[in-house]
Amino acid sequence: MKQEFIFIGPPGSGKGTQTKMLSAEYGFPHIDTGSLLREEVASGSEEGKLANSFMEQGQLVPIELVSKIIKNRLLKDDCKNGFILDGYPRSTEQAAALDEILKEIDKDTDTVPNVFYFEVDKTKLVERLVNRRSCSVCGAIYNLKTMNLEDETKCTKCGGKLIRREDDTEEVAEKRFTTYFNQTAPLIELYEKRGWLTKLDASLPIDTIYKNLTGAIKTHVNS
Ligand code: AMP
Repeated sequence: MKQEFIFIGPPGSGKGTQTKMLSAEYGFPHIDTGSLLREEVASGSEEGKLANSFMEQGQLVPIELVSKIIKNRLLKDDCKNGFILDGYPRSTEQAAALDEILKEIDKDTDTVPNVFYFEVDKTKLVERLVNRRSCSVCGAIYNLKTMNLEDETKCTKCGGKLIRREDDTEEVAEKRFTTYFNQTAPLIELYEKRGWLTKLDASLPIDTIYKNLTGAIKTHVNS
């Protein structure tokens, strides 16, 4: 049975960490629009330049660009049995665009996406964001405050250099929260009304959140 997962949560709520763990265990591709956009920026393309002008302001990149990237990605062969969407959709307009894409790619199935909402108090989030580092080679995510690394510049998994995202400053983080609360948070009600939503307490330790997440998935699949 095809399985589709959508993850919604404020910046720093730990979606990236959990969705990567889920992808490694279940084998579904992890599709993270933030990383896809950062790749576009790094390529130096005109679209990347346009995207960057919104990203550095903590705003949503125009829907036309994001929809194009997502549609191309979901049409790839590795999404046939399912996928994990991390950070998309982020507005009711994007949710409507996704509905259209899914209508097309799922026309022969009766798949209903599972949506997980990561609930966490905002005060914890700013602290998580400014202490977040990621590996420039393998993408592993670290928190300098909670992880107590011997060398704060080196990935313990692959030895790659740890970097801080340009938008993980307190100033841009505040703007990203505003964008989240104004544009993304309304999706919670939208998906709740459809009966697709599961709320998870994202203030818990990483392993506990993952146990709750996979437990909820098993319950859905077996029900
Ligand atoms: P993230 O890595 O998920 O924190 O995303 C980083 C930035 O990429 C966001 O602040 C937005 O500027 C942009 N972005 C990521 N996903 C989307 C999306 N679905 N729609 C529009 N912009 C996005």
